[in-house]
Amino acid sequence: MPRVQVGIVGAGPAGLLLAHLLAGEGLEVAVLEARSREYLEQSPHRIRAGVLEWGSKEILAQAGLGDRMLVQGLEHRGVYLAFDGALHRLDFPALTEGRSIWVYGQQYLVQDLIRLYLEKGHAIHFEHEVVGLEALEAEPTLVYRTPQGQTERLVCEFVVGADGSHSLLRSQIPGAQVHQKTYPFAWLGILAQARPAAEELIYASHPRGFALFSMRSPSIARNYLQVPVEERLEDWPDARIWEELNRRLEGVAQVEPGPLLEKSLTPLRSMVVTPMQHGRFFLMGDAAHIVPPTGAKGMNLALCDAVLLYRAFKAYYQQKDPGPLEAYTPEALRHVWQAELFSYFMTTLLHTPADPFDDGLRQAHLRHLGQSPHLQRFLAENYVGLHTSGRYAGVLRAPVRG
Ligand SMILES: Cc1cc2nc3c(=O)[nH]c(=O)nc-3n(C[C@H](O)[C@H](O)[C@H](O)COP(=O)(O)OP(=O)(O)OC[C@H]3O[C@@H](n4cnc5c(N)ncnc54)[C@H](O)[C@@H]3O)c2cc1C
Repeated sequence: MPRVQVGIVGAGPAGLLLAHLLAGEGLEVAVLEARSREYLEQSPHRIRAGVLEWGSKEILAQAGLGDRMLVQGLEHRGVYLAFDGALHRLDFPALTEGRSIWVYGQQYLVQDLIRLYLEKGHAIHFEHEVVGLEALEAEPTLVYRTPQGQTERLVCEFVVGADGSHSLLRSQIPGAQVHQKTYPFAWLGILAQARPAAEELIYASHPRGFALFSMRSPSIARNYLQVPVEERLEDWPDARIWEELNRRLEGVAQVEPGPLLEKSLTPLRSMVVTPMQHGRFFLMGDAAHIVPPTGAKGMNLALCDAVLLYRAFKAYYQQKDPGPLEAYTPEALRHVWQAELFSYFMTTLLHTPADPFDDGLRQAHLRHLGQSPHLQRFLAENYVGLHTSGRYAGVLRAPVRG
């Protein structure tokens, strides 16, 4: 039976970054991915996130994985909040000592990570779906199905579950607690061949509901509408979506309709699994935690976990120090809960609730934010990720354990 040092399940941002970093240290790594390369790189169902925190941009650049991002990504030095019929801009560099964010689609990042990994001569086992994990206590063994339908096994010194929000491997942690919160809203998201509403993102609070005006490039808009969780996509023809987007932007800006490239409904939820490890098995990314997209944190958290786990494996293999691996969960939970806090803050601040009392509180909070440099700093620091990926911004250059 074949053997590797680290078996990684899932070729999303978390699994791919970890694979790059570990293979770069000469470790034997196997990446098993259920889907085809074409699906990951091209499917409209994989469009997903698009905001990289300042620290994430630094991590990718330091790892030598950010060349296309730095050329084609859009640096944003602020965001707009729209409420009470006016735009309020938060200036990130002024509020965070020079930091900004990068708008770069997750699918582009995944394309880059796959291409560069293969160019370095490493393999990704596409269309290899993991269906089980055996002998976790002794010699963790991944059970997977090959593209030809055969069931095979891979023995690993360590297994990492980076298999996304519907993780199969999450259940492998005995006694794991799953802390969850659901919200009574969903996001109706569109990707459109259309000019974005503004050069920077607009988070619009409106009595009819929240709307986010974002982009993937100067000619591709990514917009979202708050809708009830029970909403159906078929009740939203394209013309109705554009009309509703413009109603929620009334008085501050307008969007020109364009052909839709994708349309989706995403319920909002938060989830944290703890512990994120058991014996020689570790969870990371969406497999271990989920945030509502309002704070734009999901992809960034996946990258944070990967850097943390990379440092821990490096200490283990190069310095025979198991300490950082043992401390993975409490260390990871620091950036995870910070992102959960911010995502919860943004979600409750911006979405219109059914209860008028809750809405009164929310609007008071929003107006306070419009006037308070302290609250603006809180939002900006979290948005650029000072306490999430910012914690790891320099670590790829630093020696392990000081
Ligand atoms: C539908 C959806 C829409 C999203 N939209 C946004 C958004 O608009 N804005 C935002 O900020 N964030 C968004 N996110 C969050 C963000 O995309 C995630 O946080 C990010 O993808 C996490 O990366 P990951 O590597 O942990 O997981 P993923 O990117 O999900 O990667 C997991 C990989 O594991 C593979 N896999 C799963 N099971 C197996 C198995 N058994 N065997 C082998 N491989 C397996 C999957 O095919 C996948 O490629 C969205 C997430 C989802 C699911």
